[in-house]
Amino acid sequence: MLDASAQKVTISEVEKNFILKGILSVIKKVVTAQQFDIWFSCLSVFSLTNNSITFVAPNNFIRDWLNSNYSDLFSSAVYKVLNSSREVIISTEDEVFEQPPVLSFFSNGSVHDAMGISDEHYSIPLNKYYSFENFVVGPCNRLAHAAAVAVSESPGHAYNPLFIHGASGLGKTHLLHAINNVLASKYTMKTLFLSCERFVNHYISTIRSNSWDSFRELYRNADALLIDDIQLFENSQGSREEFFHTFNTLYNAKKQIVITSDCLPESIASLEDRLVSRFKWGLLCGIDSATIETRIAIVEKKASLWGINLSHEVASYLAENLSGNIRELEGAIARLNKEEKVTKNSITLDLAKKVIQGLSGNKKAVSIEAVIEAVSRRFHVTVSQLQSKRRTRSLALPRQIVMYLSRKLTNMSLVEIGGYIGGRDHSTVIHADEKITQMLKKDKNLLFILQKLENELQK
Ligand code: ADP
Ligand code: MG
Repeated sequence: MLDASAQKVTISEVEKNFILKGILSVIKKVVTAQQFDIWFSCLSVFSLTNNSITFVAPNNFIRDWLNSNYSDLFSSAVYKVLNSSREVIISTEDEVFEQPPVLSFFSNGSVHDAMGISDEHYSIPLNKYYSFENFVVGPCNRLAHAAAVAVSESPGHAYNPLFIHGASGLGKTHLLHAINNVLASKYTMKTLFLSCERFVNHYISTIRSNSWDSFRELYRNADALLIDDIQLFENSQGSREEFFHTFNTLYNAKKQIVITSDCLPESIASLEDRLVSRFKWGLLCGIDSATIETRIAIVEKKASLWGINLSHEVASYLAENLSGNIRELEGAIARLNKEEKVTKNSITLDLAKKVIQGLSGNKKAVSIEAVIEAVSRRFHVTVSQLQSKRRTRSLALPRQIVMYLSRKLTNMSLVEIGGYIGGRDHSTVIHADEKITQMLKKDKNLLFILQKLENELQK
């Protein structure tokens, strides 16, 4: 029973899921099946106090969306289920992380049968939003996607461990969930999916409670272990040691292990060689920043999933003008949708430009004329040479730099930029942008020159 006298109510996972189930069943009656799948199916209840209830959403985007669109619905559903009104708090895992760990244990029931609990009450909703179907495949993530699919079809045998690395916002956690969804729902495996921080926290709380038997039993009895953001192991030697033993036990039992990280194993400072070498036993694969074409496809996919009408022109503009981090693209789509709702205008290119300007903060939007002017001065060529159609070799690099800087600093679309530089088409601008980006990785001198130009232009 819930203890009404205590400020913070201690409830078990079973009770939490019972409450969640009740609340979701109220919500399900009011929203469409598609809305339910996207926004609600991936929630969990984190905690309950006398006056509030905290839900965990899988990411900031879903949290913000729920807060701005469904807060009344939540309040009334909570009231119906708990018979009293509570403040509804929707957070992300990172935000509630300060509090003690709660493991997401997806199970086929065997563990719970033993505890006398029916699966129906226990199972935490899988995060359907992060599925393979909703993941757009492009050259940047093809290998990681193929490996993730292989692992989900043949767990423990295809690649073990699978180690996915890449910068923030490129889809690592999405793929991890997608694997987890298939393993837990198709094969009804007992999978443990958790962030590295959770593992470390659980380790620390186990030191305090000295309950090592249950700690080890939990991890070592899993059919698959999926650990997100392993680079965060850096500061906890004890938990690395414990993880090493868990890894060995699961690996020897041919249980699937999937790990993500923002860098390669050997770049994780203070990670012992023996763990680095374990991680290399299977397959290491990276995810790179998405090309513009892939980003356009992602924007279009997200918009259609969320039931938002975006023209191809607007989708291209967003993809062209926001960086590789897909979270930024999602944020922009959400902002556009909100603007559309508030102003009751449809989403036009102008609205997209306005929103993107807002997103890039106080950065001064630079005009393409200023870019051309600055490059012409720095590279000793004239403005008209840069804008001419003539294909002179000595002009190729400065022109590509104009296109690169215009993409980065102005609000113009690829087509508009191409138009300014001798009527070239958008693929020339994409090519120039990619070429200069590659050159900057190797050429420190060019990097220095362009950084200086950028600073001058943004003054
Ligand atoms: P990471 O874990 O690498 O930081 P996430 O997996 O959290 O990144 O991805 C950030 C957001 O971008 C998520 O909402 C995810 O759905 C989305 N995303 C990233 N890559 C893709 C893709 N290829 N297709 C669809 N959505 C993507
Ligand atoms: Mg992640």
